[in-house]
Amino acid sequence: MQRLEGKVALITGGASGIGECTARLFHAHGAKLVIADIQDDLGKSISDQLGGPSECLYMHCDVTSEPDVEQAVDAAVSAFGTLDIMYNNAGRIDVPKPITETSQNDFERVVSTNLTGAFLGTKHAARVMVPRARGGCIVSTASVCAVVGGTGTHAYTASKHALLGLMKSAAFELGRHGIRVNLVSPYAVATPLAKGFGNLSDEEFDGFAMGCGNLKGVALKAEDVARAVLYLASDDAKYVSGHNLLVDGGFSVVNPSLS
Ligand code: NAD
Repeated sequence: MQRLEGKVALITGGASGIGECTARLFHAHGAKLVIADIQDDLGKSISDQLGGPSECLYMHCDVTSEPDVEQAVDAAVSAFGTLDIMYNNAGRIDVPKPITETSQNDFERVVSTNLTGAFLGTKHAARVMVPRARGGCIVSTASVCAVVGGTGTHAYTASKHALLGLMKSAAFELGRHGIRVNLVSPYAVATPLAKGFGNLSDEEFDGFAMGCGNLKGVALKAEDVARAVLYLASDDAKYVSGHNLLVDGGFSVVNPSLS
């Protein structure tokens, strides 16, 4: 069954990892797509693999730039006539540092991608979704770091916690227009972002991921997150709004000292 037949989706950070996997899954479920990223070669290659611009358009878009986000949203409307699903997924994390060694620039660089980027995506999606009066769906990728702290990842943890507030206020305001706003919060998916953060080899990362949460021995895959996003984006979740869907194997409810 194609769960997104006739829908148009824009995915930021769609050139790699969770965003790429979600783009492929959305396409398999019948959606027309815009992939918005700063990794142009990767983004164009995925667009080609998914049928080219008539099926999947690639747009260079730095989510920290309002004109870029505005253009990407407008490109979805010009190419495919509308925008039904906005997936604010682009994100970055820096190598952990003690707070005393974290500069203002370090902090703002992460916050501007993870939080301001999602704000701009939500704002411009609403700009086109509200007047058309056909509802819509906005999902952002937060993290377990939206609900627990993490050693040395101050900007990341702060930005992901703040996404909860943004999501709740947007869900409240946009609900009256039939627009649902939710988060998906993964933990430990083997992507360039996660592997680069810990500087781990594939094998080391798998070992780490297998031990996460209380689902020991089960490593999370990008597809597991993509499936959760598909659920939130589809009519199966037609009454789900203002929700943070944790896809973390139970990590965030476990006190490591008790496990
Ligand atoms: P990834 O590095 O594979 O993908 C991130 C994508 O975002 C890349 O394609 C990158 O080019 C893009 N991007 C970065 N800065 C951008 C910008 N300014 N403008 C546009 N695009 C930009 O990593 P991923 O793990 O797939 O990350 C996707 C999301 O998942 C992020 O928001 C991340 O914080 C979140 N997340 C990941 C994990 C994990 O374990 N991998 C866990 C929790 C949350």
